[in-house]
Amino acid sequence: MLRHPRVLLLTLLQLNPLSIRAWIHGRRRTPTLRLAAATKNDDREVQGVSYSSSTVEQHETRPRYPAGEIVGATGKIGSYILSRLNEPLSPSDAMRNEGFPQSLNAAAIPRGLSPGCLSPDGTPIYACVPSTALHSVWTATAPYRRRDIVYLCNCIPSRHLAFVNSSDDVTVGILHFGISFDDSVNERPNPKLNTSPGSPETILHGRHALAVARLLEDDGIPVKVASEWNEVQSAAAKKIAWSSLMWLLCHEHADPIPVKEVHATKAGLLKQLVEEIHPALTILANESGTVEGSSMDTVAEVMDYLESYSMSINGGNVVPSKRLALDELHERNGLLLSLVSDEGQGRHSSLLRQVAGSNYKGLGAREKSSRDDPLPIQLSSSNLSFLFTKQHQGEKCISVTAKTAVVVGAGMIGSSIAYHLAKEQGMNVTVLDRRTNLLPTRDEETVDPGTATSSSFSWLNSNNKSPMSYGQLNSLGMEVWRRHDLLKDLPNWCGSLIRTKRRLSHADPYYSCIGPLTSEDASRIEKGVDWNMTIDDEDAQYYFFPEEGHVDPVASVKRIRIAAQDLGVTFIEGANITKLLRSSLGTVNGLRYSNDDNQCNQILADRVVIAAGANSSDPLLGLGGNKLPMLYQPGRLAFARTKVDEGSIESLQRMFIDTFSNCHILRRGGSIVVGGGRLVFGGDDDILLKCSGDNKVPDAADFDSKQASSMIETAAKQIAPFDLLSYKVEGIIGANRPMPADGLPVIGYAEPCLYVAVMHSGMTLGLLAGELAAFEVGKFQASEGNGFEILDEYRPSRFN
Ligand SMILES: Cc1cc2nc3c(=O)[nH]c(=O)nc-3n(C[C@H](O)[C@H](O)[C@H](O)COP(=O)(O)OP(=O)(O)OC[C@H]3O[C@@H](n4cnc5c(N)ncnc54)[C@H](O)[C@@H]3O)c2cc1C
Repeated sequence: MLRHPRVLLLTLLQLNPLSIRAWIHGRRRTPTLRLAAATKNDDREVQGVSYSSSTVEQHETRPRYPAGEIVGATGKIGSYILSRLNEPLSPSDAMRNEGFPQSLNAAAIPRGLSPGCLSPDGTPIYACVPSTALHSVWTATAPYRRRDIVYLCNCIPSRHLAFVNSSDDVTVGILHFGISFDDSVNERPNPKLNTSPGSPETILHGRHALAVARLLEDDGIPVKVASEWNEVQSAAAKKIAWSSLMWLLCHEHADPIPVKEVHATKAGLLKQLVEEIHPALTILANESGTVEGSSMDTVAEVMDYLESYSMSINGGNVVPSKRLALDELHERNGLLLSLVSDEGQGRHSSLLRQVAGSNYKGLGAREKSSRDDPLPIQLSSSNLSFLFTKQHQGEKCISVTAKTAVVVGAGMIGSSIAYHLAKEQGMNVTVLDRRTNLLPTRDEETVDPGTATSSSFSWLNSNNKSPMSYGQLNSLGMEVWRRHDLLKDLPNWCGSLIRTKRRLSHADPYYSCIGPLTSEDASRIEKGVDWNMTIDDEDAQYYFFPEEGHVDPVASVKRIRIAAQDLGVTFIEGANITKLLRSSLGTVNGLRYSNDDNQCNQILADRVVIAAGANSSDPLLGLGGNKLPMLYQPGRLAFARTKVDEGSIESLQRMFIDTFSNCHILRRGGSIVVGGGRLVFGGDDDILLKCSGDNKVPDAADFDSKQASSMIETAAKQIAPFDLLSYKVEGIIGANRPMPADGLPVIGYAEPCLYVAVMHSGMTLGLLAGELAAFEVGKFQASEGNGFEILDEYRPSRFN
């Protein structure tokens, strides 16, 4: 297909690094998205209209792909690159034609996701990790995506990238700028760049060198795109001199001094040290071996280099981190000492002994990890790859492929697990639920989707969810909804408007957010909300989250169950679990249950999966409140139908979340849904009413139409008067949210053969959790040492 002219131009320029450089220096500032997308070797156009790779074609309904993936996005370099790629548009720009609704240009890859699986071939994967992790990033990335890796870290290519076959396989950057964090903001790191025009150039080489060069250059960082791999090697060797010597001299005494003082007061000692390590630097510079005669700068030139780099970072007012230096001792000073005998580096080794103390002793030895590097496993429904760790054979590795499973609970989570077990693991699955109407019949088209699921607002979001890893898990949950082969057409990605008391950090490069908005802009986004209403608190702030959506829980669960049934899954309704069964060895191997006729039945299975929502800690299910403490967090939904008039057709196209009235509202099908009850996004300890079952849960019968009317009237008064001026109550429903005591999901083996999956945000996470859990259930019978890294934080054992 015809490419964008700028893409063509860049592709041509890429052939000649010298002309690229000249062009870089002369170019005007251009939005980042276009820069990062420009070097892709696919047929993609800048705003992600079409792609040539086959992986991408499968997801053609998805509108945009990230123009960069970042591994290590919470570190200094990673968060800097992320914030550069995801520079937020101002609300007014966002409201114009600059790609609204706005999507983030780059994705932070959470720990446990295989780099490269979110974007098409040709998209840079920025690996901003310590040099010790370079190989893990390589093995975690699918082979066909490895040539897109851009290593931005302290690395010596000949040493740390020895596993790369050719210098063309990856892009490498030897960075000469500093990043500091402004810790005051919040959990999200806020990177601040430290550099100056006098700094040594950051050296880049490889297929994405141009894209990175332009990104950095735009921020005033001196950059050079190297034509030869050897240049990178020499630059890396010199950088090792800075990172090995400057921290030592800054921390020589108890009171650390900044680097500028080292140059002013310890130049003699610094020179002696440079002379000592110079032979090692020369050896390192020549290690790449691709071009004859690569040489190291003279001692005087290295001294100049050290000073210009030091002074470029905040005018030399910087103290390199001792903790980081000790963590990387092996790769910095240790490497230099290993190249030339200790006698030749007497001052260096004695200073190191003095400053590093006991860390010096362990310099030679590196502990070998008892775990292999996790490997990517591609899951077929979402087409995403997750990193899976398998413990070494002989160390409690219990890898027994299961043939049968019984799942307790047919809500969103149980249904999703059952479907994925049958589809991806080929297992024989039975699902039990004490509710009825699990599948459509000739008389009844609709189904009961489960206790909490039926009361779910089903807002698909990762809004304000903490800690950050949990927020990333939810973002991934949204991504799976966008890609899932069975359900991707169901969500309505309409975006959410939020009225909040707190000013949000709208510069958050992790999650797409536009705001604070003026009431004019807000009313252009959503006509159904009265933005001028008087509310008590003058601090109200309005934000728009364009990537969020909602989904009909009944339609979702119905489709999953029907597909599961087609794959052979049996659903048994009206089944109350009475006992967990165990083999003579004490291993869980089935369930006993009674049905409506009080008949006692039992099912034997290789695995029992508890997905009983808020009731998962019922002792009859084998867990109990000690092993699985739960909070009591009831919530309600009221449904209303409005008189269709001209105003209501256009209004409430978005979701509206109001933290003032604790009220949220959306339009689904012909109905308006109003939710009430406090929303909690994980980790909120002040709601401490623990419960061990859903016996305290308000029953639908407890709600009357008066309550529904009052919820709807609150919404009408405080949010959306136009639509709700005249309405008819359709119903009200409520349930306890399945909320583990720390607010985070619980997914994994509670004991061999007994798997549990319970979580709030189960609509957002349901498909992701179902896919991951099904693989673990099918392939292993216990979690110890085995499983998806992304679930490590959510194992039931954390409550032991
Ligand atoms: C008011 C409210 C609003 C929500 N809003 C959102 C939202 O906006 N976004 C979001 O992502 N999530 C939201 N959630 C959470 C989400 O709905 C749940 O996390 C999700 O539905 C949980 O699904 P589940 O399958 O675990 O539980 P459930 O749907 O409760 O299913 C569990 C099933 O197990 C069965 N069961 C329990 N015990 C037994 C037993 N002993 N024997 C047989 N069967 C048993 C029950 O009958 C039930 O059908 C909300 C929840 C509530 C209550």
